[in-house]
Amino acid sequence: MHNIKSVGILTSGGDAPGMNAAIRAVTRAAIYSGLKVYGIYRGYRGLIYDEIEEFSTQNVSNIIQRGGTILKTARCKEFQSPEGRQCAYDVLRRRGIDSLAVIGGDGSLSGARIFGNEFQFPIVGLPGTIDNDLYGTDTTIGYDTALNTIMECVDKIRDTATSHERLFFIEVMGRDAGFLALNGAIASGAEAAIIPEISTQVDQLSELIKAGFRKSKNSSIVLVAESPITGGAMGLAQRVKEEYPGYDVRVTILGHLQRGGSPTANDRILASRMGAAAVDALMEDQRNVMVGIKNDEIVYVPFTKAIKNDKPIAQDLMSTLRRLSI
Ligand code: ADP
Repeated sequence: MHNIKSVGILTSGGDAPGMNAAIRAVTRAAIYSGLKVYGIYRGYRGLIYDEIEEFSTQNVSNIIQRGGTILKTARCKEFQSPEGRQCAYDVLRRRGIDSLAVIGGDGSLSGARIFGNEFQFPIVGLPGTIDNDLYGTDTTIGYDTALNTIMECVDKIRDTATSHERLFFIEVMGRDAGFLALNGAIASGAEAAIIPEISTQVDQLSELIKAGFRKSKNSSIVLVAESPITGGAMGLAQRVKEEYPGYDVRVTILGHLQRGGSPTANDRILASRMGAAAVDALMEDQRNVMVGIKNDEIVYVPFTKAIKNDKPIAQDLMSTLRRLSI
């Protein structure tokens, strides 16, 4: 017999397409196993301020195809203090909620780890972020949808870029991780990607110009991860204007449209599998783990590993992009 009788679900931090599919999966899998389910609104804020509703299977009907999160999301400073977390714990006790499924990124899972340890409270995390920057999982919920959105946008920009002979910097999300920029560049046939992982080692802009990347083409598209380490698209365009004034440079910042839209089949399936696996983990008395996927199999990654380690970019991606953009 497992010890868990109920589960609270929350989404926290940056939203990602597929979060709804994950909420649906946790809800349905938990009810299927006889657990009570509580939807917690606005992330950790809703925990502290008791914005909680008991969920039935109907609460999650007709949401698998919707972007965003029906539970809303928020950033909550109070949860970073012991007093705030104590309030959250008191609410859970009062409500009779004895486990949590937290869907979010690096920050949200850091909060989950601290809370789980502080109160010995059963928590399982689901990686919900378009950045794909959590260690121990091949991919995260929302990443595939964002990548497809980027690809569609770059396809459109290419039409106008080739009509004028221009250098386009297209800025994509990915605070500390270049997955969206690099794979977005490969998927859209862009000339290069400038990513934080490499920016610390070489000056990617001067390498790019030195390589004469525009010689055989009448336009060039470079995807840039938004990180301060890369300088972002605006910073790079400014540098080009100053250091290489011969180039006609333009900037597009894709911004929040990367977070929106109906999730792809891959994201819906991933979120559904992870949601069901999160309930399994709680019922098996696993603690402080993030559900991940490795080689198409569900894995459980300790929070400390998922959060603390930098996820490496596969070595072949950079060289593939370089070789295919000649
Ligand atoms: P994401 O989950 O997308 O990375 P954030 O980094 O903004 O988003 O984190 C979301 C929320 O998680 C924060 O607003 C805060 O409530 C909680 N959180 C983040 N880091 C911590 C921490 N070290 N301790 C407690 N709570 C945290």
